[in-house]
Amino acid sequence: MKNRSLGAAMLQGCCPKCREGKLFPTSILSYTKLSEMHQKCPKCDAVLVPEPDFFYGAMYISYAFSVALVVNVLIILNYLFDDPDVWVYVTTVVVANLLLVPAFLRYSKVLYLYGVGKLSYDPHWENK
Ligand SMILES: [Zn+2]
Repeated sequence: MKNRSLGAAMLQGCCPKCREGKLFPTSILSYTKLSEMHQKCPKCDAVLVPEPDFFYGAMYISYAFSVALVVNVLIILNYLFDDPDVWVYVTTVVVANLLLVPAFLRYSKVLYLYGVGKLSYDPHWENK
């Protein structure tokens, strides 16, 4: 697919340089291999992990996702279910967090790579 937009490339977990190669070798549903990532882009050969421990900073983004989840669950339960018991809040937050962990981990890495990684989009990467 040519000329994938920035948003589509980020949502699909594609390389920031070519927007075609996948960042992750496995499906988002493979809980056992959540942290696996290609070292280099399978399409354009861009280095996706510039240094060891590069993605430690992505933990802050993942933390922000989790905080946003907790706040949203608290607000939704409070208004839609008329302030249920505490165990309902805790159970809902834990279940929602477990279900969304793969998305949080992947998209925190994607956002970090697009934001901090020094790879910029090159639509003519094939010609170089
Ligand atoms: Zn690439």
